[in-house]
Amino acid sequence: MIFDTHAHYDDEQFDTDREELLNSMEDEGVGHIINAASSYASVKRCVELGRKYSFVYGSVGIHPDELEGLTEETYQQLYPYFEDEKIVAVGEIGLDYYWDTMPRDVQKKWFIRQLDEARKRNLPVLIHSRDAAEDTLQVIKEHGRGLKGVMHSFSYSKEMAREYVKLGFFLGIGGVVTFKNGKKMKEVVVDTPIEHLLLETDAPYLTPEPFRGKRNSSVYLKYVVQEIASLKGLSCEEVIRITEENARKLIGRENE
Ligand SMILES: [Zn+2]
Repeated sequence: MIFDTHAHYDDEQFDTDREELLNSMEDEGVGHIINAASSYASVKRCVELGRKYSFVYGSVGIHPDELEGLTEETYQQLYPYFEDEKIVAVGEIGLDYYWDTMPRDVQKKWFIRQLDEARKRNLPVLIHSRDAAEDTLQVIKEHGRGLKGVMHSFSYSKEMAREYVKLGFFLGIGGVVTFKNGKKMKEVVVDTPIEHLLLETDAPYLTPEPFRGKRNSSVYLKYVVQEIASLKGLSCEEVIRITEENARKLIGRENE
């Protein structure tokens, strides 16, 4: 079944129908979802979603746009959440030079700090990287070697994709690959071995065609699957099966 490796169902855009929507996932062919934490507050909501829904996993981490006011002391208050049995990753963490809400050296410091956390806890990393291709790669080469991870909402060139594949990382592919102006992403999908691709929505954002502009959910991943299948010359069933296996490898839960 479809494994959505990156969504934000704790977002307020789901407040009106979260339960109904999540309860419909199995009928829609969606087997598992990783709800990715971004802010300090969302970590708690991730854990709650994981407790409520058997098929929802969570992550613990602070997004580069959410670092304001973070101290080592407040960061360590997250530690108990890592102990939850449904927490399967550190994320989303990384660098965002598009919004640049914090100085780049501060972003790097917390990125490295959280990569170290993942190593210590033997967890994979969910990485957010926007307009920061070179620095992200450099930090991962220096501090992330040997870690398992996914470049969430991958948006760089196929040459950059090859660098991450060499490091054993996965690339998260979502709605952008269906866009008419998504040529670069289509090239990445064609060029990258399917063993390194994962499905993701980033819901409520990045809705695929033909629903672009509306609120996204894992239900729409079938359109991403169709696009990947046609680009790779595979059936939709094969794309779903292989990306699901990849997701299980990422989080180390091959029998759930
Ligand atoms: Zn996200």
